[in-house]
Amino acid sequence: MAKALPKRFKPDLLSRDGTLFNTVIAQSDMPRLRDILLSAEHDIHCTARFSRRKNVVVVSGNIKTTLTQECQRCLKPVDVDIDVPYELVFVDDEERAEALPDQYDPVILDEHGNIQVIDLYEDEVILHVPEVPRHSEATSCNMVKTEFGELPADVQEGKPNPFDALKDLRLH
Ligand SMILES: [Zn+2]
Repeated sequence: MAKALPKRFKPDLLSRDGTLFNTVIAQSDMPRLRDILLSAEHDIHCTARFSRRKNVVVVSGNIKTTLTQECQRCLKPVDVDIDVPYELVFVDDEERAEALPDQYDPVILDEHGNIQVIDLYEDEVILHVPEVPRHSEATSCNMVKTEFGELPADVQEGKPNPFDALKDLRLH
């Protein structure tokens, strides 16, 4: 049974007994993520287990959310589900972050050795936002608008499926 991760905490204290934590963060609470997404209405579900490795504290777990962006093919909203493992290493300052071996992704603690949950996860979620979001099948995109502009009202009437209207236009 996982325990709720506090909003702000000292990773060093959480690394002692291997407890599994979980947390739910609203995407709308992450300003930089919010700017990238078309809408930030979903929650981010994270698990976290803290451990000590040599002289650093490591956190690892899983991040799960749905990212709503604008499809680059049809310009309509497209949802991309992510469910990804992560591993991060806590460091005291920039200097130590740069000294870490490449395989470690650093998170810099504040001057009291604390971290805010949002600061811990925001970069990691942004890393998984697709650069060119698209519906997985071209057929799930509504191509009518981009290829033909607005259809005349009489063509749209009685044609609930825009692809039917598209077929008719091609026959003329
Ligand atoms: Zn699309």
